[in-house]
Amino acid sequence: MSPYCPDCGGRLNWDRKLKHYSCESCGVTFNEAQLSDAMDKKFERPLTDDEKTRKRHDDYLEWWLSDKDKKKKQA
Ligand SMILES: [Zn+2]
Repeated sequence: MSPYCPDCGGRLNWDRKLKHYSCESCGVTFNEAQLSDAMDKKFERPLTDDEKTRKRHDDYLEWWLSDKDKKKKQA
């Protein structure tokens, strides 16, 4: 799952109390299901192979970094 806002591309922060993501840039909020729906819709747009590769790499890197950070905090 991408941690980026599907609306504006801003960074999403997970709010543990409210159990949703909120966007630093535009303030939109998503729960996990809403975010995954929104991302599915966003990525229906056809991308070139180059865009796909770059996007996947960026998303993966950001996901990996944020996931690592979460695990560290929970441990
Ligand atoms: Zn946003």
